[in-house]
Amino acid sequence: MTRCLDCGSERIVDQCPSCGLTSAAAELLFRKRLLKQTTFFLAGSLLFPYVTPIYAPLDLDLMLVFFGVIFFVALAVAAILDRRARNHQEIEILKRVYAGFIPLPWILASAIFLNGKFDSATKIVYVPETVQGKFLMKGLVRGSRRLVVHSWRPGQKVERLAVDADDFERFRVGDRIEVAVQPGVLGIPWVYGVYREGAPSQ
Ligand SMILES: [Zn+2]
Repeated sequence: MTRCLDCGSERIVDQCPSCGLTSAAAELLFRKRLLKQTTFFLAGSLLFPYVTPIYAPLDLDLMLVFFGVIFFVALAVAAILDRRARNHQEIEILKRVYAGFIPLPWILASAIFLNGKFDSATKIVYVPETVQGKFLMKGLVRGSRRLVVHSWRPGQKVERLAVDADDFERFRVGDRIEVAVQPGVLGIPWVYGVYREGAPSQ
């Protein structure tokens, strides 16, 4: 007894009693859908590193690591699904697991975007800091630039502030700066901007 690869109904003959597909047709249809789902997942994954620095969370690096793990696990599940479908093996549980992964990059990216987009500018807090270090990682879609400062949050040693190329260039190690931080509508603190200390904040 096996299950139809496409609709998941139990079947004892080659043709599925529920959807009428033969095992070969069901395999083809399932793998087509798998490709579509994977494309949707990849599109969201490409979007993720573009969208997240717009309202960059303080813990952006942690989130990128977390997202990287999701990304590779999901692709591994997709690869196993494809191979099992080719061999007409049981895929029902794995199919559900994969379905859970597909919208994740879209949901996470939207959450981080909306968290900053709808935050109120009246909640900005300016934290005086000194630049302790600078960090540039090229590649990764468009590169990651970070200014490293001591953390003002309990239990945290440093903050790695995601900044754009301009801010990355104009601040040097030892510069006194003010970090404008907002709490986020979803409670994810994010960096509104980084300013030179004493300079009027925009
Ligand atoms: Zn079926």
